[in-house]
Amino acid sequence: MTKKKLITSVLSASLLVVGILQSGYKPWEEGMFPLSEIHKVDLKKAGLKISQNEIYNPNGTSLVDALVNVGGCTGSFVSNEGLIITNHHCAFSAVQQASTPEHDYLTNGFVAKSHEQEIEAKGLTCRITDSYEDVSDKVLGAVAQIEDPASRLQLINNAMKNIALEAEQKDPSIKAEVSEMFIGKTYVLFRYKTIQDVRLVYVPNRQIGEYGGETDNWVWPRHTGDFSFMRAYVAPDGSPAKYAKENIPYTPKKFLKVNPKGTNEEDFVFILGYPGRTFRHRPAQFIEYQQKFVLPYTSDLYDFQNTTMENVGKKNKATEIKLATRIKRNANVMKNYRGKLQGLQGIDLIGQKKQEDAALAEFINNNVDIKAKYGNLMSDIDKLYKLINGDAQRDLWFSQIYNSTSLLGIAKNINSFKSAYDAIPAAQQQAFFEQNQPKLKQNLTAIYESYEIDADRRIFKRMLTDASHFNLLQKVAAVEKISNKGSNSTTVIDQYIDNTFGISKLKDADYVLNTLISSAKSISTYNDGLMIFESEISKQMAELRPEKERREGQLNKLMGDYVNVKEKFLRKDFIPDANSTLRLTYGYVRGYWPADATYMRPYTTIKGILEKGNTNNPEFAYPAQIKALWQAKDFGPFAKKDLNDVPVSFLYNMDTTGGNSGSPIMNASGELIGVNFDRAYGATINDYAWNESYSRSIGVDIRYVLWVAAKIDKANFLLTEMGIKL
Ligand code: ASP
Repeated sequence: MTKKKLITSVLSASLLVVGILQSGYKPWEEGMFPLSEIHKVDLKKAGLKISQNEIYNPNGTSLVDALVNVGGCTGSFVSNEGLIITNHHCAFSAVQQASTPEHDYLTNGFVAKSHEQEIEAKGLTCRITDSYEDVSDKVLGAVAQIEDPASRLQLINNAMKNIALEAEQKDPSIKAEVSEMFIGKTYVLFRYKTIQDVRLVYVPNRQIGEYGGETDNWVWPRHTGDFSFMRAYVAPDGSPAKYAKENIPYTPKKFLKVNPKGTNEEDFVFILGYPGRTFRHRPAQFIEYQQKFVLPYTSDLYDFQNTTMENVGKKNKATEIKLATRIKRNANVMKNYRGKLQGLQGIDLIGQKKQEDAALAEFINNNVDIKAKYGNLMSDIDKLYKLINGDAQRDLWFSQIYNSTSLLGIAKNINSFKSAYDAIPAAQQQAFFEQNQPKLKQNLTAIYESYEIDADRRIFKRMLTDASHFNLLQKVAAVEKISNKGSNSTTVIDQYIDNTFGISKLKDADYVLNTLISSAKSISTYNDGLMIFESEISKQMAELRPEKERREGQLNKLMGDYVNVKEKFLRKDFIPDANSTLRLTYGYVRGYWPADATYMRPYTTIKGILEKGNTNNPEFAYPAQIKALWQAKDFGPFAKKDLNDVPVSFLYNMDTTGGNSGSPIMNASGELIGVNFDRAYGATINDYAWNESYSRSIGVDIRYVLWVAAKIDKANFLLTEMGIKL
C-alpha cells in the first residue's frame, strides 16, 4: 500500500470511529457474551444487518445451531452434509495419527475427493450446545447454611454433578454439564449433543497450515493458512455413533453460508465460539500472583526445558521427533506467558486493580448495609492471598514436577496402582489387576512416548536445585533429605541423580511395559530411589491438600461476594469470564498501533508469504505453486481489489481467547468470512484485561482458504458443496 493510501485508510477508520462515537454508541465494549446475555447488547446499532433472533433463538433454529466444539477448539457447519470448517492446528493431532511415512498427510496435506476417502479423525468428537438453564438457586441453595469453606465447595461441586446427572437421566441422548459462570455466584446447566464420528476431509500442506510456525505464533503480521475441513457422521438412523463404515453424514439443524467476498476494513464482524478461560473479575492480588509467580516461573522453566530438549534432540532424528510435541506445547505457553508479562507490566494492571479495589473498599465502608454484610471482604481477600502467595514457589514446583521429569510420572502411576491394589481385599485383587492394568499400560506408554533420559536427568536436576533454595517454610521434604546431606548441594544433587537413575529400572521402557507391570507381584515388590522420592512427594502433597481445599473453598465464597459488591458499586452487570461455554463477541476489522509510530494494517497478502520466504528461516518455507500462481496473478475471484492480491490473514478488535481457535468469523449478515486462530502479541493479556488499543485477534481470510482449496489443492468440489460458484 502506498503511504497516501495508508494514511487515507487510517483516516477513514478514525472518521468512522468518531462517527460512531458521535452517534452516542460505544461499540467496542469488551465481552464474551453468554447466550443468556446476548439480548443486553444492541448488535443492530453496532452494525448487525440481520435480526438478533437469527443469531440465537431458543424457540427455533439460529446460527448458534451451526456451532460445534471440536476437541477443545471451535468449528462450524458449512454444508447440510455435516461439513465443518476449523483450524489446521485443531486437526493437527488427528492428522498426525492418520499419517505414516508412506502417507505423510501432516507434511503434504490431505484431500478426500469422495466421502469414502475421508479418514477417521482419531480422538476428536463434536459437541453441540442444545439448550441451557440457570441453576444458580439450586446449586447455592445446597450450601446456604454451610460455613466451612472446604465443605461448602465440596457441596457445590456435588450439586453441580448431581444436577447434570439428573438432566442426563431425563434425556439419555444428551451430555449435561453445569458450568460456573461467576465463581461462587452463578451456575448454568448446559445440555450438549455429542457426535462421535468425525472424519478428516481436507487439510492443506503443513507449509500453508502452519506457515510461520513458532516464529510467527502470537504475532502480527501473520500469513498462516490455519484451516482444515472435517465431516460429522452419525448412524444410519441419525443417532450419534462411534466411527463405523455404514455411518452417514450428519445433517445439521443449521449451517453457515460462506461468503467468498470477505470483508473490508471497519466492517462489522462477530464470532460465536467456545472461549476457554479468562480472569477479568479478580482482585489485584490475583494479578500479582500471576505476574510475580505463575508467569515468570512457568515461562522460565519451559524455556530451560526446551533448550535442554532441543540440545538433546540434536543427538538423532528419532529423539528430536520424540520431543517435538512437548517442545511445541511448551513454546506456545512460554511465548504467551512472556507476552502477558510484558503486557501486564506495560499497563501496570496491578496498580490499576489496586486503585479499583481501594475505591471498592471505600464504597463498602461508606455504606452501612453493605458494610454489615461485606465489611471484612477486602481484608479477607488480602489475608487469603498472603497465604497463597507465600506458598507460591513450592506450590508451582509441585504443579510442574511430574511433567518435568517423565520418570517421576512413571513412578507416580506405578505407586498409585500399587496403593490402590494393596488397599483392596485379597480376594478382589486379581480382578482389580485385570481391569486396571491395561489403563496403567496405556498411561505409561503415553509418558514413554516423549521420554528421553538425558533430558529427564537435566530437567530433574534443575527441579531439585530450585527446590533446594526454597525458604524454610516452603521446603519440599523429599528434596530436603537429599540436599541436606552435604555442604555442596550441586555435587550432592548430581550424585543423587547418578545413583537413582543408575539403579532405577524405570528408565527401561521395554522392561517396565512388558515385564514389570505384567504381574501384580512384580509391581508390588518393585521399588527404587525414584519410587521412594515420588511417594514422598505424594505424601507431602496429600498433607497439604486439606489446607489447599480450605483456601479454594474460601476463595470461591470471596470471589462471589467480590463480584456482587462490585456490581453494586459500578451499578452494572458484568459479563462472566470465559469458561468454555458458547459465547458471542463482536467488533470491527481494524488495524492498530502496537508501538510509537508503528501502524499495523489489518490485512496481510500472499506477497508477504514470499517476502518472509526470502529470510532463510525454514518456518517460512512455502509450496512453490504459491509463488508461481502469485507471479501469474492467478487469483481467481479471491483478490481484494485495493490490495491487488489475495488477503491471507486479518485483524479485528474482538474479544477472544484460547478455545476460540476455529471459530467462524461472520459478517453483518451472519455469513462466514474467516476463521479465527490467534491473537497479536499485545493481546495475550486479553485473559486479564481487554482493551481496544491493544486487543487484536487474528483470523485466516476466507478468500485465502478458497484460493488455496481451488488453486493449490484442486478441491473445487468443496467449494461446490459450500454453494460457491467460480
Ligand atoms: N491460538 C488460540 C487457540 O488455540 C487462540 C487464542 O488463544 O487466541 O485457541
